[in-house]
Amino acid sequence: MSSLYVARGAFRRQALPRCHHILFSRRNLLGRPARGEEPTPLLPGAPTRTRFAPSPTGYLHIGSLRTALFNFLLSRATGGQFLLRIEDTDQKRLVPDAEEKMYEDLKWAGLEWDEGPDIGGPCVPYRQSERLPSYHYHVNQLLDDGRAYRCFCTPEELDAMKRVAMSEGRDYVYNKTCSHISAEESAQRAANGEEHCIRFRPDSQNPVVQDLVYGMYKSPVLLDDFIIMKRDGFPTYHFANVVDDHLMEITHVIRGAEWLISTPAHVALYHAFGWEPPQFGHVGLLVDQNKQKLSKRHASFNLSSWKERGILPIALLNYVLLLGWSPSRDSEETSEVMDLEDMIERFHLKFTRGDVIINNKDEFFQKAHMRKALDRDSAGEASPLAPLMPQFILALEICEEDRRSQEDPSAPHRQLGVRIGPPLATWVDSVESLNGTQDNPFSAIPDRYLSKIFHLNGKTFITPASFLKSNAYILWEVPEQEYMFALTNQRNMLHKVAVREGTEKETQPQPRKISELATTLLESLEGVPAEGWTEENIKSSIEPFIKSIGYVMDTRKKFEAWGWKFLRWVMFASASGPGLIPSMVFLGKEETLARVRKAHRVALSRNV
Ligand code: GLU
Repeated sequence: MSSLYVARGAFRRQALPRCHHILFSRRNLLGRPARGEEPTPLLPGAPTRTRFAPSPTGYLHIGSLRTALFNFLLSRATGGQFLLRIEDTDQKRLVPDAEEKMYEDLKWAGLEWDEGPDIGGPCVPYRQSERLPSYHYHVNQLLDDGRAYRCFCTPEELDAMKRVAMSEGRDYVYNKTCSHISAEESAQRAANGEEHCIRFRPDSQNPVVQDLVYGMYKSPVLLDDFIIMKRDGFPTYHFANVVDDHLMEITHVIRGAEWLISTPAHVALYHAFGWEPPQFGHVGLLVDQNKQKLSKRHASFNLSSWKERGILPIALLNYVLLLGWSPSRDSEETSEVMDLEDMIERFHLKFTRGDVIINNKDEFFQKAHMRKALDRDSAGEASPLAPLMPQFILALEICEEDRRSQEDPSAPHRQLGVRIGPPLATWVDSVESLNGTQDNPFSAIPDRYLSKIFHLNGKTFITPASFLKSNAYILWEVPEQEYMFALTNQRNMLHKVAVREGTEKETQPQPRKISELATTLLESLEGVPAEGWTEENIKSSIEPFIKSIGYVMDTRKKFEAWGWKFLRWVMFASASGPGLIPSMVFLGKEETLARVRKAHRVALSRNV
């Protein structure tokens, strides 16, 4: 047992140097002048080394994503480095796929690290379970200096002490039994293989912590002789964290306020080693409207729930960035909508103190970034919409499954026509495969096709499911019964058109039958050649007709051409959705004419 704590051979002899070969580059990663050249009181003048140090005992959530973002931005804003360190010393609570998922989620979010377990770096290894010799070396140093001692108390004895403290209504603190054991006896008992942990022996005075957010912080109670090395030979978080932050030359530690209370213990360790602590900044915790700490119970806690809802990564980053931080008011740039470059440009170290209540501005950021993403997508850049595609495909599959479960009257997408949008025919090898019985026909749909759908109406995109719901007739055909349902409304409006014309004493002869209107529309559209099936050509061919068939009063008491409502009935059975003419171009001439004919058939069958 004792051998676990004795650094042998090379480790004993070599002084475990810090990563002195780390070169602080003043080269800014985005190619703008290093911040260090014009120091601002809100940002360090020199490049910083920051880290994100998750424990793989759970998955990334919005609180930890925010911490990672702050550290990432600080390193980027100062031309420094951002490290990823996996803190897996609590072996009992490890979640098997948490580490892998952490990489995946951070990459999804666009937060790239410069050093980490997967990519290496000058301070390898970056996984704490692989750094045990280093912890043992340092723990031995403290033992040698009398700043730590072995504690042979058994877990049962410690539990009994805790129970007594509880029954007496006081906080449990270790009673220091083993701190009086002589160094010789302690070493002998360890050499005999007696199980023990190692405790730190703090100074009689607590150190003061200088925090970026909370200012001077001193713990109100004296530090306990806290454990730095557990009986299983693994260091505690407190110890490993300090040793690693020092050896990895971390200059700034931005983390959740829940760690503030432990920071005096960390600073005490720094002092015991004679090391300079990093600059700490403890950011307020995220809480719900009832001031309850955000936890797994909350829908917006887990990153996966945001991904499933189809949020753009940059929208989520923008949302979490502004939870407890805001851009400087002095800046000329006032917009809160920021891409990663803006965030780096505007980042500073002034955070809100205290708990941060989460708000519902996520929708606002999603819409704003969706608009930007669509513009960038049109400009032909690597598609910023790509992260949405898997969720979109999933939503499509669910929609299609619902549609197929005709026997279930509550299935929300029963009203979709059986055929999946004809324009797909030009995008996939065989459109039959999409309409066939294949289990997962949608995986064949290329991203470029889906991104076209986003372009039709993407500005309203919030989640893939809601987006599909309001754009379903772009992908699926409109069934006759939907035309029937919506027809009543058309007839009522037709009546209003007549009334309005009566009022205005318009004498223009009007075809009074919807079927006749459909015939005229069909004739105009047939006149547009398939090879010239463009927005301009369609518009110029149908606009005079659309505008000629009267006006209705809308809900804001404004008159609008009824013809557009009629056209929406023809194309989508009056369902809301994308713009009509762009949709006609997207669907193609053949499908557009098929819809007009179907609408005509329905009107004829009702003799209207
Ligand atoms: N492993 C700790 C956590 O997951 C890190 C805390 C810190 O940043 O020091 O919260």
